[in-house]
Formats: sequence, C-alpha cells, structure tokens
Amino acid sequence: MSERIYLSPPHLSGKEAQYINQALDANWVASTGEHLDAFEAATAERCGVKHAVAVSSGTAALHLCLRLLGIGPKDEVLIPSLTFIASAAAAVQAGATPVFVDSEHTSWNIDPDRLGEAIDDGRRRGKRAKALIAVDIYGQCADYHRLLPICQDAGIPLIEDAAEALGASYRGQPAGSFGELAILSFNGNKIVTAGGGGMLLTNDHRHADRARFLATQARDPAPHYQHSTVGYNYRLSNLLAGVGRAQLSVLDQRIAARKANFIAYRQSLGQLPGISVMPIADWGSPNYWLSCILIDKARFGTDREAIRQRLEAENIEARPLWKPLHLQPVFADTRVYGGEMVAQLFERGLCLPSGSALTDEQRLKIIEIISQTH
Ligand SMILES: *Cc1c(COP(=O)(O)O)cnc(C)c1O
Repeated sequence: MSERIYLSPPHLSGKEAQYINQALDANWVASTGEHLDAFEAATAERCGVKHAVAVSSGTAALHLCLRLLGIGPKDEVLIPSLTFIASAAAAVQAGATPVFVDSEHTSWNIDPDRLGEAIDDGRRRGKRAKALIAVDIYGQCADYHRLLPICQDAGIPLIEDAAEALGASYRGQPAGSFGELAILSFNGNKIVTAGGGGMLLTNDHRHADRARFLATQARDPAPHYQHSTVGYNYRLSNLLAGVGRAQLSVLDQRIAARKANFIAYRQSLGQLPGISVMPIADWGSPNYWLSCILIDKARFGTDREAIRQRLEAENIEARPLWKPLHLQPVFADTRVYGGEMVAQLFERGLCLPSGSALTDEQRLKIIEIISQTH
C-alpha cells in the first residue's frame, strides 16, 4: 500500500526547529516570550488589524470574543449552518443558544437574505441576537459588504471566524479584519499551523487588553493573587508561538501551492459531466484552504460516497463537506433559517486532498481515480 495521502496535513517550513531551540536556550518555554510578541505582531500586520492576542486554540479565541461582548445564558448567536462545530461550540460554552442560517450559492457562506429573515423573525419573537459569527468557509470570505450593513442596522456585533481563511481577502481587505472581533486557528489542519493555537484579532485596544487579562486567569494588578472575575487558562505557549512564527513566514507559498491544487482539480475534474468545483466569488481572493467538488449523481453516474470509498481504498483521505450543524444530533432542536442549500452541499460535496506539500503525481493519481469511478 502506498503512503497515505491526507486531506490537509501540516507542512513545515524548516525554520521551526530554530525558533523552538532559541526559546529552549533562553528558557522562555511558557506563556511569555519573544516568539509570542513577534507572532502576534506579524499576524496583526498580515491581517491589517491593530491587535492580535495569541491563545491556545481558535475555539478558545471565539469563546473569548463572546465573553468580551457579554454574551451568556438566554442570548442567541447567529451562525452559518455550514461550518465546523467549533463555531457553535464556543456559543454553547458561553451558555448561549446558536441559531443557524443557510448558505448562498456564490461562495457557500452565510446567506445575507436568510440572515435578514432570521433577524426579522427574532424581532417578532422579542429576541434580538447578541452576535453574528460569520465564517469564511474553506478559505473564502463571506460577503461583508452585505453582512456588515445588515448587522449595523440591527445593532448586532459581527465576529469573523476566519479560522480557515488566513491570507484570504475580500475586496482587497484581509480576512480577519472584518467585524468588531475576529479569530484565526493555527490547528494542524489549517493552512499554517502552530501545532495548535488560535488568535483573537481586533482594532479595539480595550478588547485586546481584556482578552489578555481573561486568557491568563483574570489576575488583578496586585502582588498577591487577587481576582474580581473568573477568567481562563487560554494563553499560547511561547514554544508554539515559535512554530507559528516560522509557519507564518511561508504563508504566501502555502497559498500558492493550495491554489495550484484547486486550479488543477478545476481544469480536470471540473470538466467532467456532473462534477463542479467550489465556486469562487468575484469579491475576493481565497487562500484555497480546501479544494471541494460537488458530484451530481444523476449526471456523473455515481455518488459522493462511492468516490470517497474508492479513494480510501487507495489510502487517500477525502472528506464530505462539513455536515451542517442544523442536521447534527446535538442541535436537533435548534432553530434554523433555510437549510436546504447546505443540506444539498453536504449530500453532494467532497473535500479533496488539498495540502501544500501534495505532489503533482499524487494529484494526478487522485484525478485519475475520480475520473474512472463511474
Ligand atoms: C478549525 C476551525 C475552528 C477552530 O479552531 P481550533 O483551533 O481547532 O479550535 C473554528 N472555526 C472554524 C470554521 C474552523 O474551521
């Protein structure tokens, strides 16, 4: 059996060990240090925001965002149904109730029309959502020129979940810079990784200061341990920040490699009857985190699952698109606006190996297998 081809494995730059060794030599192995400062500064600059706070995961960053906005029990949070569980898990951790919204056809991100419906209906129910978590799905920005005015009119703060979209942009503006707060993930499957980690982004220094305070157990300024509120142990290690720093320095190469994957899949698979690739909206420049295809069984002759199993038999990892959150057992009783679009995407959609270290030969093999599966 040939070596397994993974969906989106880490791709080291070669500079990680040097940064880690620096931290080890200097004894800065915990929650402060030069790498943390440099990693935050480089990320803030890349995303065009004033402040970045490095934390232990993207989920922790989202949880902090909700806490900063004072969101808690009985509050509703609007979330696209097509996303990874983390987007909603943070709301649940905060004690809030997710409300799910369908996606549009242009970029598979949250549908502004459906969002408007959800907000209007909330008004009728006497319930104004306390935040929108807008996700940039698969590395492509949501339609912020439509989403931001809707949120402004309704008085609802926008949190951008850019976990999958570092390096992408919308009308020239970087992912991670939309809304009052934004988050990134440096988990192992993302476009660059810190071996695990996340970042909270904001232009508001009060949010940044408060996030740092809450992420380090909310210690009041006093020589003894004193607490006026309860925080979290969410700070990223300086060792991991060193890994993140090394990875960030090769982000543009990683985007170029993932884009090449997408283009190759589009030029080959996209030409087959019954197969289409993820649409790219004209409003932005994705980071091409994952390359996804849709399979129309009636026209292609076989379905998503048959293709996935065929690839698996060759030791190649492909995955269905995110199972919509409104279809998850844990959210069976949760409110959803629309949902048909994402249900169809889930039924037909497959994410193909998209790593930046994928070789031309590996990609050709994947394309061949799929072409022959019908
Ligand atoms: C990966 C991801 C997260 C969470 O990131 P972690 O660092 O794994 O906690 C949040 N939202 C989306 C959309 C993601 O893909």
